[in-house]
Amino acid sequence: MRVADLNWMQMEEYLGRDDRAIVPIGSTEQHAYLSLAVDSILSERVALEAAEPLGIPVFPVLPYGITPTFLAFPGTISLRVETFVRVIHDILDSLDQAGFRRILVVNGHGGNQPASSAIAEWMSKTSRTTIRLHNWWNAPKTLAFVQGIDPTSSHASWMENLPWTRLADVPMPDLRKPAIDYPLYSTLHPKAARAYVGDGNFGGDYQRSDAEVGAMWDIAVKETRAMLEGPWGRDSTIRTNLPS
Ligand SMILES: [Zn+2]
Repeated sequence: MRVADLNWMQMEEYLGRDDRAIVPIGSTEQHAYLSLAVDSILSERVALEAAEPLGIPVFPVLPYGITPTFLAFPGTISLRVETFVRVIHDILDSLDQAGFRRILVVNGHGGNQPASSAIAEWMSKTSRTTIRLHNWWNAPKTLAFVQGIDPTSSHASWMENLPWTRLADVPMPDLRKPAIDYPLYSTLHPKAARAYVGDGNFGGDYQRSDAEVGAMWDIAVKETRAMLEGPWGRDSTIRTNLPS
């Protein structure tokens, strides 16, 4: 359920019976012919569909992430790593204070990986609340499905081209783009990076059938839902050799 559809009393009532929440995080950045908001649209939607049967609240997506190499493409907004980490920490502090104890951060953008260190750092300061980070697009089953169809598929290719990220009246090139040279790309400043990647697709088919992307999406939703179900750090099924 969307947090936007709840009031605070309903949230307090929810916290009396469950302590899980989802925070989707995305990015606003070039995605070739697709929406600038692809990473936010997809992380929020996969979170909502995963949470729906479990009745877990999904907070509004964080629409900005870390994407400095796309800054030469108009419409891209990039947070400093420092800002991003502070925002993640502030969100977790607020949820922890409210009583959430199991929080799934669903990420839709590769550049947001500092979230992983930010979460590990945050968790080192508390033992009462557990955070899981889930990169929906490279989780094992989703990634295996995507690579089974097209191992070169990447940023702004068919795997991000769904009915809810396409723009009306924008035709897709009917071709397959070769994968970019990542080691080379990583050395480029924003203007040179724009010149190198052209329209912004990093490789793969621009579009595939709705049946194929729909099958990928079903896997991604189920894989995200499994993250909500556990294991969580406090589960009694987890055994360690450490003294308690
Ligand atoms: Zn993306």
